[in-house]
Amino acid sequence: MRKKLLIPFAGMAVGVWLIVGSGGLGVPTFRTAERATPPTLHERPAIADTWDLTRLYASSDAWQKDIQSIVREAALIASYKGKLDHAHHLYEALSKQEEASRKLEKAYVYAQLQFDTHTTDSIAQQRLHEARRTAQKLTLATSFIGPELARLDDKKLERMYHAEKKLVKYRRYISELRKERGHILSEKEEKLLALTGEAMGTAAQAYRFLLDTDLAFPSIKDEKGKSVPLTRERYVSFMTSPKQAVRRRAFEAVYGTYAQYGNTFASLLAGEVRRNVVYAQARRYPSARYAALHASDIPESIYDQLISTVRHRIHLLHRYTALRKKMLGLSALHKYDLYVPFIRGKKREYTLSEAKTMVREGLAPLGAEYQQKLEEAFRNRWMDVYSRTGKTGGAYQTAVYGYPPYVLLNYNGRLDDVLTMAHEMGHAMHSYYANKTQNYLNANYDIFVAEVASTVNESLLLRRWIEEAKDKKERAMLLNRYLDTFQGTLFAQTMFAEFERDIYQAAEKGEALTADDLVRRYRKLVAEYYGPALTLDPNVGYEWARVSHFYKNFYVYQYATGFSAATALADRLLHGGPEKREQYLAFLKAGGSAPPLDVLRKAGVDLRNPEVISRALDVFEQALNELEKLA
Ligand SMILES: [Zn+2]
Repeated sequence: MRKKLLIPFAGMAVGVWLIVGSGGLGVPTFRTAERATPPTLHERPAIADTWDLTRLYASSDAWQKDIQSIVREAALIASYKGKLDHAHHLYEALSKQEEASRKLEKAYVYAQLQFDTHTTDSIAQQRLHEARRTAQKLTLATSFIGPELARLDDKKLERMYHAEKKLVKYRRYISELRKERGHILSEKEEKLLALTGEAMGTAAQAYRFLLDTDLAFPSIKDEKGKSVPLTRERYVSFMTSPKQAVRRRAFEAVYGTYAQYGNTFASLLAGEVRRNVVYAQARRYPSARYAALHASDIPESIYDQLISTVRHRIHLLHRYTALRKKMLGLSALHKYDLYVPFIRGKKREYTLSEAKTMVREGLAPLGAEYQQKLEEAFRNRWMDVYSRTGKTGGAYQTAVYGYPPYVLLNYNGRLDDVLTMAHEMGHAMHSYYANKTQNYLNANYDIFVAEVASTVNESLLLRRWIEEAKDKKERAMLLNRYLDTFQGTLFAQTMFAEFERDIYQAAEKGEALTADDLVRRYRKLVAEYYGPALTLDPNVGYEWARVSHFYKNFYVYQYATGFSAATALADRLLHGGPEKREQYLAFLKAGGSAPPLDVLRKAGVDLRNPEVISRALDVFEQALNELEKLA
């Protein structure tokens, strides 16, 4: 997972504050499931295994001073409202905004990191609350900049660049802000749309409440026959239970509950789809999908190509499903049998120092410079390693421009925890290289490439382990795990993407999206993707209700494209030599200095070409061939 503030300078999202992350229930992979088991607590970790926040602020007074100065600067920026058609004023407003944003990024991340390691501490809670309020103030104070820039005509803007040479620094930022100007409406219409904003967000908000608070699942019997209340976290954990009866009970309890509220879930999802369709139509975009992809300069053909390329070789997933059924020795394979490892290895624990060595060795193909920086990360407290009371769960990376990145782990000694460390260090090194090479405005990498560097690292480790496996059994266990990542990311996310494409197309044609309709569409996709070896349970068509990422429109396909790009890149790093390595490092260094497809092309991977997806499918096929023989 990557946690990053999208600050006002981070491209189109001006005035929007977001904490982005990935994983969660939309991606029911083996790895996510493993993380759900409660980790051992280390109440007094060694200082070396905690992160060093004094790099950001030596004292809380210094933090408070920054917060106060951001509030003052916000008021100052607001005084430029209506004056941005003057070159010097524009430069001043933008440079003040840049300065305030940098300060806010630092203050916000500091508050967030402190909170995440001390969630029950009232001072940490209050500090985070203050950081959020300050963020809102700055967002509000700078919200006029985008619309005012959009109203300038091209000729006028060119004259302004001549009149104020320093303004050239912001050329790319300004053109990003003006990119959507053909879709900005009259002032009156914009005001009307703004008024609808909160109401139009109702579906997404109600879905969250339903999922997080209101919906209760029945209790089920666990492996030991003990009755336990089912939660979404436990569900993920139960999916890897070696006992099929436990997996079935969990599945039936969860999907049965979704089915029970089927009409509610359907009208919420239909409402969310309708919202995006209405906004796209109001702003004269050709479609809701076009509007969503346009923000990252991704052509819609990339999306369709992904689906058609995966579909073309879907028999590979059918073979995987059949192999799973055979290996698990089941007379019928169900959806709830897709996440449990079918070859189990010996349980082993890895110490932190062993884990570091495994990550170091696995990432050797990235070269000496990368390795040195990795050593520095390990030595100089970039990571907060262990779980303890009050610390937030999971794992993420976040970075402040001009400072070393921070990585949160809940390291628990499993093979999965070693992979998670490699994953988060992938994000951290991406941030490090981008921040070191690019100026503040161009450093932030786009969400489209966000999971590439992390997935490359995981892939490098897994492939090394497969190569170095001690015996057939261990090799088969690792191949099983490797194939599962393709199932959970490349195939499942492409299926989600196809479902999303279809329901938006239906909505744009004016068709209603009822529960029956959604279930029928989803069920058909599951049957076509997973093939004849999968037995379809009555409620399997309700899975869409579980995927919270459908409330981030046209987001999921990026998991599949990012995973394919990462698979191709890991290949090039393993077999390519120093030239390919330099190209990969150039990608990390490029950050957000160009549109994401161009940045990826620097690394030697062009997603405009369906070959990238095909190549990932080739890798899957090779591993599948081998495991079929070993099995
Ligand atoms: Zn990640």
